[in-house]
Amino acid sequence: RFNTGIGQHILKNPLIVLSMVEKSAIKPTDEVLEVGPGTGNMTIKLLEKAKHVTAFEVDPRMAAELEKRVLGGPLNHKLKIIRGDVLKVDELPYFDVCVANLPYQISSPFINKLLIHKPLYRCAVLMFQQEFAQRLVAKPGDKLYCRLSLNVQLYTKVDMLMKVGKNNFRPPPKVESSVVRIEPRFPRPAVCFQEWDGLVRICFSRKNKTLSAEFRQSNVLEMLNKNYATFCHLQNKPIPENFVIKDYVNDILTKNEFSNKRSRTMDVDDFLRLLHCFNSAGIHFS
Ligand code: SAM
Repeated sequence: RFNTGIGQHILKNPLIVLSMVEKSAIKPTDEVLEVGPGTGNMTIKLLEKAKHVTAFEVDPRMAAELEKRVLGGPLNHKLKIIRGDVLKVDELPYFDVCVANLPYQISSPFINKLLIHKPLYRCAVLMFQQEFAQRLVAKPGDKLYCRLSLNVQLYTKVDMLMKVGKNNFRPPPKVESSVVRIEPRFPRPAVCFQEWDGLVRICFSRKNKTLSAEFRQSNVLEMLNKNYATFCHLQNKPIPENFVIKDYVNDILTKNEFSNKRSRTMDVDDFLRLLHCFNSAGIHFS
């Protein structure tokens, strides 16, 4: 009956549903966004707390079941079901709180959508595969610390709330799950995301190497050289005749004491500082 190909694993343990709703601390004035309501076990609880719920559901059978469940009842007028793929909308509707037992296939793209969503919402309480959740909260030095950890922690404060065993779902998924709470940082860090992501991509291509080794790779230097030429052209700045990108970049790293640092031990502030050092010397990543 369930289509696990699109992540249909229904939460059958009402205590987990209640706990997720409770952790999201919904106020009676709140607009809530739910992704993948399925048969609506969580939606009903959200409707009882919130002013209004917008729910995206890609499976028309599920959407019909949810619709039937609230039809004619006191919660009906508070619910808007949007039939379709949440990833396909250009912009998410306004919401104060997002609560979702997400289909795991869309974890990454959905998080990216949340990161750039404006205006800022209060929080999101989301169920993910355990390893994905661990990546989100990983700190410098942790085994799972990666580009995703940094991107999410640049824009949000993220906390692990609880582990959820696979037998709480019907049908049970292959792996364990975890619930995390995400809260956007206010104000949003004033950094160009393309620049940030360009830098972090390079630094995490081999996260155990020193930065000076990362920045000796020829494809990286080639790209930075091209960007530097564009930058100088736009600024009407002549490039010195004896300019060698490798030395220039190495100089920036040494002067700012980054040469011997390794990405796996650097936090958001370290990367922001590194980006600032590069950018103020005219080195760009996008
Ligand atoms: N919320 C329910 C619960 O907790 O029991 C069901 C959660 S189930 C893990 C995920 C739900 O998301 C399924 O109902 C599935 O049809 C729906 N879904 C999958 N991909 C989707 C997408 N791209 N956009 C919207 N809904 C999607």
